[in-house]
Amino acid sequence: MFRLMRHPLALEPSQRPEAGGYASFVGRVRAHNEGRAVVGLAYEAYDELAMAEGARIVEEARCRFDVLTIRCDHRVGELAIGDAAIVVEVAAAHRREAFRACEFVVDEVKKRVPIWKRERYEDGRSDWINAGTARPVAGLTESGYYERQQRLPEIGVEGQRRLGDARVLVVGAGGLGCPAIEFLARAGVGTVGVADGDSLDVTNLHRQSLFRSRDTGRPKVDLVAEAVAEANPYVRVEPHPLRVSAGNADALVEGYDLVLDGTDNFETKYLLNDRCVSLGKTLVQAGVYRYEGWAMRVEPGHPGGCLRCLWPDPPAGVRSCADVGVLGVVPGLFGVLMATEAVKALLGLGDSLADRFWILDMLSMEARSIRRTARPGCPACSRAASSPPGRAAFEPIEVTPGDPLLDGGPWILLDLRASEQGSDRPASQWPWASAVPEFADLRPEVRYLAVCAHGVTSLEWTRRARASGHLNVWSLRNGATGLDRIGR
Ligand SMILES: [Zn+2]
Repeated sequence: MFRLMRHPLALEPSQRPEAGGYASFVGRVRAHNEGRAVVGLAYEAYDELAMAEGARIVEEARCRFDVLTIRCDHRVGELAIGDAAIVVEVAAAHRREAFRACEFVVDEVKKRVPIWKRERYEDGRSDWINAGTARPVAGLTESGYYERQQRLPEIGVEGQRRLGDARVLVVGAGGLGCPAIEFLARAGVGTVGVADGDSLDVTNLHRQSLFRSRDTGRPKVDLVAEAVAEANPYVRVEPHPLRVSAGNADALVEGYDLVLDGTDNFETKYLLNDRCVSLGKTLVQAGVYRYEGWAMRVEPGHPGGCLRCLWPDPPAGVRSCADVGVLGVVPGLFGVLMATEAVKALLGLGDSLADRFWILDMLSMEARSIRRTARPGCPACSRAASSPPGRAAFEPIEVTPGDPLLDGGPWILLDLRASEQGSDRPASQWPWASAVPEFADLRPEVRYLAVCAHGVTSLEWTRRARASGHLNVWSLRNGATGLDRIGR
């Protein structure tokens, strides 16, 4: 039961004989806030919305916890110092469930119920404060949060905005997923979807860095959402409490720009590979085994191909971490690496793992790279390439000198070298090249050929242009080294 009350609140402890535990919480009006003396306050609510959301929270608590009764009353109107503003009472068969449900209701009401408070101060002034964020954090600002990252010239305000607009799905909130999610969130990736159907188990704790030992038994997606909200209030988590399967993968993947695969079984890895290639989504994968791990990126249309190009079928007889054990820091490291690769993909930074399978043995500290190339006849890639019109985004996005495309009609050459780092950065543009336009300024009636020093930056740029709906752009393979062979 959730109620908005205009008169003083009181506790009504449950007398139910089957209740072995009873927990209550009373939030009172305090005499100070952020160093200012408070003399009184008023709560105002959007009654209908507040009642509906409050009832929803109580219902959610009922589903999540094994409880007998839940009551939550919230005061509205004028309150004096010391008055009870919110009372939550939970009766349950066991004390632990009562504590947890009580805390859940208080937290969710503060976050979600549309109630505002106006504090009156000793100096006669007053301020409206959203009750949900009633504890403003001194000095916390969004620009301050990202200050050190925005300072990087390759990122800046524009790159940070791009991260803020991005939607990344992390499949599996486990040893790989936890650090990946945390660093995506701290990097400012605006929306992080998290798909995981499990609850926290005690055997997860040695490697799954977002979780606390007192939360065992609770759904991981909820714990992730809470941890991220505390780590970075400027991003949000979309929880998907489910196990990814052939039946739900497309609907899930379609809603995101990029997918991180933190699962620990090859069946799901191949499923995500196939669905991401088919839907044209960038996929970053990693896996760990005892003391070693691997990582790679699948970039649809990239000459490096996909997981199935590398190995047509899931390997047989590979035992999971649950069977053979894993050193906790190994998935930690590879989860961070996945987040790095995702941020680079979103910003078009640096070299990618799209053409290699990267392995690190943490005992020998030997790193190895297996070069990857698209395999003709790969069922995943060829299905995507032969998809019906409307899937034009999966056409090859790289051209080589001599490609018929370069003969057929006008095209504009874009010089991307200026956006690159290092010694290849030119002093001036090619006179015949155009300045690189914003994606929004690309004209649909002309074709663009993006060229950089080696064909890496231009490929990333082209991929992003295509992702934003401009299919009339191509990247010149091998960059400027191939430029003099196309007759300009
Ligand atoms: Zn393939």
